[in-house]
Amino acid sequence: MQDKIDSIKQQLLELTATHDSPRSVLRSPLLRSLYAEIPKLPAEQKGQFGQMINQLKLDIEAAVVTREAQLARVELRPIDVTAPMDINSARPEPLAASKGSVHPLMREISILSDIFNRMGYVVEESREIDDQFHMFESLNFPKGHPARDDYDTFMTEERDGDGEPLIAPAHTSTMQYRVLRKYLDNLDKGEPIAAIVPDRVFRNEDLDARHEHTFYQVEGVYVGEGVNVGNLIATLQEFLQEYYGKKLEVRLNPFYFPFTEPSFEFSLSCPFCEKKGCSVCSQEGWIELLGCGMIHPNVLQMAGVDPGKYTGFAFGCGVDRLVMMKYAIEDVRHFHSAKLDFLRQF
Ligand SMILES: [Zn+2]
Repeated sequence: MQDKIDSIKQQLLELTATHDSPRSVLRSPLLRSLYAEIPKLPAEQKGQFGQMINQLKLDIEAAVVTREAQLARVELRPIDVTAPMDINSARPEPLAASKGSVHPLMREISILSDIFNRMGYVVEESREIDDQFHMFESLNFPKGHPARDDYDTFMTEERDGDGEPLIAPAHTSTMQYRVLRKYLDNLDKGEPIAAIVPDRVFRNEDLDARHEHTFYQVEGVYVGEGVNVGNLIATLQEFLQEYYGKKLEVRLNPFYFPFTEPSFEFSLSCPFCEKKGCSVCSQEGWIELLGCGMIHPNVLQMAGVDPGKYTGFAFGCGVDRLVMMKYAIEDVRHFHSAKLDFLRQF
């Protein structure tokens, strides 16, 4: 009888050592067949035989635990620090988790992209590192232009092929040249170039409730035959009224940007106080929201668009600012704070 138990034990241990779900070995028919022997034995042997089987079962259980720990180690290599489980446990179980949600900025970007989509704009992505040509030269900031310094850009220590540092883009206008070239064929087909670029930008700012080093901007570009300032105003007004869900007045003041001529600072009547004055608009009744203008002929020409035949407008608007106004968020730093109390409100 001892021989039979030893033989079965050997088989079960070998099986356990290689099994992918070792605990199932404890339900093996071999083990059950031993229990089935007990009633057939003479009464005086039953007790001893039962003890032997129990000991066998304990040995197999120990082997199962060893095998499970081994499997767990294999599964956890390499360690994923984002794993929602206790990685030190032999049998990791998912940790209790609450349901996440889309970040408010991402959600608002998809809302504003939908609005522009309906107006015939395509949505393009920006990039998080770019060269001086796209950030400056292609936008009519020649080398040495004083306005280059206004952008407080982050630059790499590495140099590109032209011996210049690369840049973490300070505006998504860095995509304007690429967008114009990508959709140049539209113009030959009699269609406009119409694109927005909502994406992340970076500035070396002193941080406070209104300034972040990392934020989001939506660039808009529209080029075609006979495009004028009236189209620019109508487009932005339509967008803002749709976004805030109410009628708004808009106002343009002359401004200066190298890449647009003429250039404007675009204001809208405060969506909260009907121009009476409140804390959101600093009691002004108006909010200076974004920069815009007619694309400079040099910018069009550089991208291969004939400025004698086509005109266009461009605008750049801070997404964080739009969203802060929509929800009366008082501090821009909340967005990247990872504070769950803040994020759970959305
Ligand atoms: Zn107001």
